[in-house]
Amino acid sequence: MPPHLLPEKPIETIAEYLASGGGAGIAVARRIGPLRTIDEITASGLRGRGGGGFPAGTKWASVRAAGGRTRYAVGNGAEGEPATFKDRSLMRRDPYRIVEGLAIAAFAVGAREAFVATKRSYAREATRLQRAVIELGEEGILRDLAVTVVEGPDEYLFGEEKALLEVIEGHEPLPRLLPPYQHGLFATAPAGGWESEAAEISGLAESNPTLVNNVETLAAATYILAKGAAWYRTMGTARSPGTIIATVVGDVQWPGVHEVDLGTRFNDLLDLCGGPKPGRQYRAAFSGVSNPVLPADQFDVALTYEDFTARGTGLGAAGFVVYDDTTDMVSVARELSRFLAVESCGQCPACKDGCMAITERLLAIEEGRGNDSDLGVINARLRSVTDANRCYLGTEEQNIVSSILRLFPEDFAAHLERRARPLRSLLVPLIKDITDDGEVIYDERHAYKLPDWTFHDA
Ligand code: SF4
Repeated sequence: MPPHLLPEKPIETIAEYLASGGGAGIAVARRIGPLRTIDEITASGLRGRGGGGFPAGTKWASVRAAGGRTRYAVGNGAEGEPATFKDRSLMRRDPYRIVEGLAIAAFAVGAREAFVATKRSYAREATRLQRAVIELGEEGILRDLAVTVVEGPDEYLFGEEKALLEVIEGHEPLPRLLPPYQHGLFATAPAGGWESEAAEISGLAESNPTLVNNVETLAAATYILAKGAAWYRTMGTARSPGTIIATVVGDVQWPGVHEVDLGTRFNDLLDLCGGPKPGRQYRAAFSGVSNPVLPADQFDVALTYEDFTARGTGLGAAGFVVYDDTTDMVSVARELSRFLAVESCGQCPACKDGCMAITERLLAIEEGRGNDSDLGVINARLRSVTDANRCYLGTEEQNIVSSILRLFPEDFAAHLERRARPLRSLLVPLIKDITDDGEVIYDERHAYKLPDWTFHDA
């Protein structure tokens, strides 16, 4: 059995980490140099675990090639996707591996300073990361790399890489215009428009290309350097190599976190979670709130980026919420749409106004007040909700609501024809904690969060 990213028991000290082979990856990187380090990551086929599945080697190479006098590397542990707890599991069980992976990435792209970001409310994880940074520094593994642990707000958008850079700079989590490799941390160049070119020509402005990787991606990089790209490719599939840390919550018997080889059947992952509740059958699943619905008749899909895309959805960050046949899919559409409407920052009118309008009309249908004109408004707004957007949130709204409308028309018809029976109420599955005993605790506060990110009393 090859070593996996999630050790069975948490690694508590630097001595335990070194005894388990820690430090070998950064040693190889320094021996072979930055360019061959990037080549090794490229050859491994490692894909970003934050949700997009973008090839990590390509990202590292483009940040290095972006030039500039100053570059930065950032580890993204600001996990906020509903139904996802994999980054927190990793930060709790092996923070050393994340920080070593960040050091490898910084070395490869030529960064002298790095940041690893997590949420202020994830105090346990932040403490573990801080200790790992200190101990790896004392051990000489970080050499002259300065690593800062940043603790940010609870907002969903904090995990978006362009918003993450804003938070590291001390601002609100509002996505900036350009991607981090073009407009990085503490950049002095204008963020766009004709002024950029003039500033670049003058030579006074710096764009500080910045590499942002999910913490699971960084942890995997340590093994790839230590054991080689060919070894990494012995796990997973040709286009999705390696393992993935998956979270499953909702209507299964034992919700939780499991690390499995990519290519494992989704059904088999659900079996690790005990299968459906007694007497129930699956209806649908979502990977977070980013991708279209996966109906139950497609649950034989392999856990790979390409197979999920072929089934019309996406693997995302492999955080799944599963719904069984006690679920009204109109309620699911309304609740996930409400989450996105609240979390939208409002910089792009089509996104905030569109998500709000769609949520209102879905609520009217759910409550038996709706008619065909509500459906017409929803469809019209879904077409425009992505217009001129700075980030992906509007596309998430489009993905989720359009796919539910397309695949579960009978649920909408039942509400519009006033024959829907009341089913259970639903909350977006934001995970507050998974205790050491395996109990999943949901964050119910989001039900009281308002679209301006304040809270009203329960
Ligand atoms: Fe904010 Fe939505 Fe624009 Fe993203 S697309 S920056 S969430 S308004």
